[in-house]
Amino acid sequence: MRLFLALVPPPALRGRLGALADAAHARCGGRRMPDESLHLTLAFLGEVGAAKAAELVDWVNHLTLAPGKWRLDAWGAFQGPGIVWVGGQSPDPALAALHERLWHALEGRGLTGRPARYVPHVTLLRRAERLEADDLPDMDLEWTYNQVALIHSINDGQAVRYAPLAHTRAS
Ligand code: ATP
Ligand code: MG
Repeated sequence: MRLFLALVPPPALRGRLGALADAAHARCGGRRMPDESLHLTLAFLGEVGAAKAAELVDWVNHLTLAPGKWRLDAWGAFQGPGIVWVGGQSPDPALAALHERLWHALEGRGLTGRPARYVPHVTLLRRAERLEADDLPDMDLEWTYNQVALIHSINDGQAVRYAPLAHTRAS
């Protein structure tokens, strides 16, 4: 099973991000992420066997995390895959610490794949035709979160959908 850990936006923020995705799509083209798929990846785990997945579900369901806030005020792009995203202008210490804590625990459970550098971002477009963010609307959004989701990425050959398998508890 293909798994990842992510923050899922609350409904009002999901709507705001969807509107930004529309604005970006109008200017940059490419494939717009559907509203229901918008998320912030904290750790991509890749293919995990059924027994390990069950262990991770149990671990995540028993994990307690402090709530936090993330400021979204910048556009960004990854040239290779043509990704247009929104994220923060300045590094977010709480997200960096959460990323570190999760990967420390995951590595203790035998998982690998921690990236050398973590850039928190919400992907809005894939395979965009243009990557300049100069004429995209300004934004200043706040993402209030109190749980991390363990998500199953399901590819049925046509489309990818995400199914949450477990959630952490708020302290
Ligand atoms: P598709 O790859 O078919 O376009 P997707 O990217 O939405 O679909 P996944 O590839 O399962 O679905 O990715 C789930 C999440 O993990 C996404 O946020 C994606 O950007 C991230 N991700 C995928 N592969 C990696 C990787 N190798 N390293 C870091 N993050 C990844
Ligand atoms: Mg992918």
